[in-house]
Amino acid sequence: MHRVSGGVFARLCGSRISNQLNENVCNYSRSLVSPQNGPKIAVVGAGPAGFYAAQHIAQARPDATIDIYEKLPVPFGLVRFGVAPDHPDVKKCISTFNKTAELPNITFYGNTALGRDISLKQLKQCYNSVLLSYGAEEDQRLGIPGEHLKNVTAARSVVSMYNGLPGAQGVEINLDTETVVIIGIGNVAVDVARLILTPIDVLRKYDTTEDWLEKLRSSRVKRVVLIGRRGPLNISFTVKELREMLKLENVRPVFHKEQYLPFKEQVAKQERGRKRVIELLFKSALTEPEPETAERWARAEKEMELKLLRSPLEFLPGRDGKSVEKIKLAVNVMKGDTVMETKETEEIETGLVLRSIGYKSIQADKDLPFNDKKGVAKNVDGRVSEGVYAAGWLATGPRGVIVDTMGTAFKIGANVVADLEKGHKENPGRSGMPSLPKSTSWKDWRKLEKIEMEAGKLIGRPKEKITSVSEMLSKIQS
Ligand code: FAD
Ligand code: NAP
Repeated sequence: MHRVSGGVFARLCGSRISNQLNENVCNYSRSLVSPQNGPKIAVVGAGPAGFYAAQHIAQARPDATIDIYEKLPVPFGLVRFGVAPDHPDVKKCISTFNKTAELPNITFYGNTALGRDISLKQLKQCYNSVLLSYGAEEDQRLGIPGEHLKNVTAARSVVSMYNGLPGAQGVEINLDTETVVIIGIGNVAVDVARLILTPIDVLRKYDTTEDWLEKLRSSRVKRVVLIGRRGPLNISFTVKELREMLKLENVRPVFHKEQYLPFKEQVAKQERGRKRVIELLFKSALTEPEPETAERWARAEKEMELKLLRSPLEFLPGRDGKSVEKIKLAVNVMKGDTVMETKETEEIETGLVLRSIGYKSIQADKDLPFNDKKGVAKNVDGRVSEGVYAAGWLATGPRGVIVDTMGTAFKIGANVVADLEKGHKENPGRSGMPSLPKSTSWKDWRKLEKIEMEAGKLIGRPKEKITSVSEMLSKIQS
């Protein structure tokens, strides 16, 4: 019997499941079982879902051989390329991933993409279980007129640039404007607004790219406006992000009182999980700040404005007919939980609009059953078809923080283990797959990491990320 429940697993590892991002991976499989005849497992995507699922499977089946295939030469997905650089504590889960990757029955193959270097058909032929966890790397579109205009782009592009995602450094982000508009009021929108408004000397302490700092040096941005289509009870950001917004140096938060007053009575009725953020939001919008805060905000040269009950209708070009100059918004009202557009409209002048309305997965392999509308792999509890599983944002859609992703990845890892209990064929695993002459190993990644840290030290920063695949590969070879 190899099945291990989440609770048992947590006890085995000596830590609580609700607080596992920093925990140690147990040394369970260092010695015990020879993986020769054990099941062969392929994991595709080395983000949190891939690592946590691999960790769970390795724990429950120490006889399994687990190969992790990752598109980029480097691991960690959105922990490296999504999480904001000024949230270094969130990235501590990396120490857990390192321990998983260094288990003797786990091998990392970087620079190896499903749909480019390997196919689902090959994986199914060679492995007993294939767990796809390649995330969501596209973004949702609004589908409104003018979305094609220059300087209307995805917030994801900004995230990728400040985090050094290969390929993102060439994308044009116009900060030569006074006002930036962000559509959507989730945590990604708030992260991006903060990273645009944070003073450079503060950001320098974190592992953001030199390219982003360079952009900020010439930035003219004085105001970032976040647009929410629903009311203040329907915000998607969380309390930590709101607190950071309120404390941001040289930035005054701007709320519109009239957008809060009709909903005031409902604050007390909010469910426990959301109450703290809603209470803080209403307090910030409707009450006078402490004198010290009021003075700080009065002195601030920049603004972060939260504009609610507005839906984007159209992007309007300037004189050149090519670049965005204005956004036209519908003024909305709430009827219960439903949002309705009125005939009233308003416009905001802007030189950069960022869509932050959610990420989206793609069908990386034609043989993967895929729900195009939802942008997820078709699955029931992570099961896609016999021996094929999906975990993380590819399976759930682009929602949830790392702890949520961990919880579902553990569950899907447990499903893989449960299905293997019925017995397994002797599959060849990696030795049956095509050769991968350009793949990177875990050792290669550790070498790159060291190079990044050393380069950072030279300029007094925590690290300087290498931002192109070709440079990563040439540094590995050097
Ligand atoms: P990912 O992290 O995206 O990992 C997928 C991996 O698959 C990547 O390494 C990718 O390169 C790889 N891949 C893609 N295509 C292929 C392919 N074809 N073949 C092989 N490999 C492939 N959560 C928090 O708890 N705190 C935060 O502060 C936080 N900040 C966030 C900031 C942003 C901008 C975003 C978008 C999310 C943030 N999250 C945060 C949420 C968190 O990042 C996700 O819950 C989590 O990363 C999802 O994990 P995943 O493994 O499903 O996807
Ligand atoms: P999100 O939380 O789902 O927010 C998306 C926002 O876009 C919502 O405000 C949504 O409004 C709006 N939206 C969607 N479609 C729209 C449309 N057609 N027109 C106008 N607005 C639209 O997504 P996210 O910000 O991308 O974050 C994804 C996940 O990652 C979340 O779970 C988030 O918590 C997590 N994350 C966490 C952190 C952190 O912990 N610091 C940082 C970043 C991301 P409605 O609510 O009205 O649909």
